[in-house]
Amino acid sequence: MDWQKLQYGLGGLLRRGYQKRCCPSCGSQASQRVDRKVFHDLRRCVDCELLYRWPYETPAEMASFYQRGYQQAGLTTDVPDAATLNSLMAAGFRGSAKDFSRVIELLEVLSVPRGARILDFGANWGYGVWQFRQAGFSAIGYELSRPRAGYSKNLGVEVFTDWSEIEDRGTFDVVFSSHVLEHTPDPAEALRRKLGVVSPGGWLIAFFPSGSEVFQKSDPAAFHRRWGQVHPVVLNEKFIRKVLPGSSLAIGAYCPEDIEGLKYWDQETAWIGTMDANEMLIVWNHA
Ligand SMILES: [Zn+2]
Repeated sequence: MDWQKLQYGLGGLLRRGYQKRCCPSCGSQASQRVDRKVFHDLRRCVDCELLYRWPYETPAEMASFYQRGYQQAGLTTDVPDAATLNSLMAAGFRGSAKDFSRVIELLEVLSVPRGARILDFGANWGYGVWQFRQAGFSAIGYELSRPRAGYSKNLGVEVFTDWSEIEDRGTFDVVFSSHVLEHTPDPAEALRRKLGVVSPGGWLIAFFPSGSEVFQKSDPAAFHRRWGQVHPVVLNEKFIRKVLPGSSLAIGAYCPEDIEGLKYWDQETAWIGTMDANEMLIVWNHA
């Protein structure tokens, strides 16, 4: 057993003795247990609907874990060497694990014009920003990890690590994130931060692992693997509806039926697509 997992497990055992079952997002102490793994519960906040792991670490401990955890998980090897980067760029990332074709297709479905300003929130080492730019959009990125953000220079794109640098650049026609929210101790705060930089008429688009009850019922084993040390929170459609204002919100999945459905969405009323998928897609318009 590796040291980090042992530390995580023992941390759970110890914290159970003194940590209050408080929602890390809204602070409510009203919650219900949804799932359990040894010394950790997955709880559903009765007030904001967030699914959160309890006990949990402090935001500072979580940030420190991500820096080390990323290294141990070998994800730094996701930062390619020069030859690999050259071949990825030559292929336009097509067919790779970092292929953004589906996101660009989604922007076309939403009639986002070329030249639109895009922020990739959680841009990692810049492959998404690069692909948005190649497709004709004006894109920059925001990323907490300094080494990863720094690597983006190799792609000739800008990825900032300081949120004030993003705010200095005004607002964006699209704020996009892929598999970021489930790593944040307070995803409501992350969503509000994003909302603050969406232009009027602009879009907020996010992908994340689904925490929908519909998905949980359709694949309980996959749902059980969904949360833990790396994913301290899980988001579902009820939580999203509480955080995002107004009714111009579509929730579903990236699948042919939903992409077709989104083409006919009036972009004013709430739209619900496929809910039993592994990954959830949300599209919100700043009406
Ligand atoms: Zn809550």
